[in-house]
Amino acid sequence: MRKRLKPLWRCPKCGEWFVTENMWHSCGKYSLETLFAKTEPHVFKLFKKFSRMVRACGPVRMIPQKTRVVFQVRVRFAGCYPRKSYLICSLGLPRKFNSPRFVKIEEYTQQFVGHQFRVTSESDLDDEVQGWLREAYRVGEQQGLTK
Ligand SMILES: [Zn+2]
Repeated sequence: MRKRLKPLWRCPKCGEWFVTENMWHSCGKYSLETLFAKTEPHVFKLFKKFSRMVRACGPVRMIPQKTRVVFQVRVRFAGCYPRKSYLICSLGLPRKFNSPRFVKIEEYTQQFVGHQFRVTSESDLDDEVQGWLREAYRVGEQQGLTK
């Protein structure tokens, strides 16, 4: 059974949605064009593939920020940091996952563990990543939480 959750708050200025009212954010100032302006062309292709894989999990909002693009259902559960010749992708997973592919793992809460991995070619965006994304999507929905 799905939990009933509090409705989201929508910023009247930029139209972004948040779990908490008046939450600080960049207020729609950034665009994909500026984020990817200095990257090599294939990096944007990698981002497009990653975003297709995110959308395959369900409806999401994509929000360009100053240094990254984030994906949100209720909360932000995935993101991409463009680098000159590759992407760093980050996921919020419901527990710590063990894989040599993760370059950084940060436990924010017990049910929200940040995992970062590098994507340098399309073959890095494989079925394993899609599996992680499905788990991260549930974190984004706040459906994995116990309270
Ligand atoms: Zn705003």
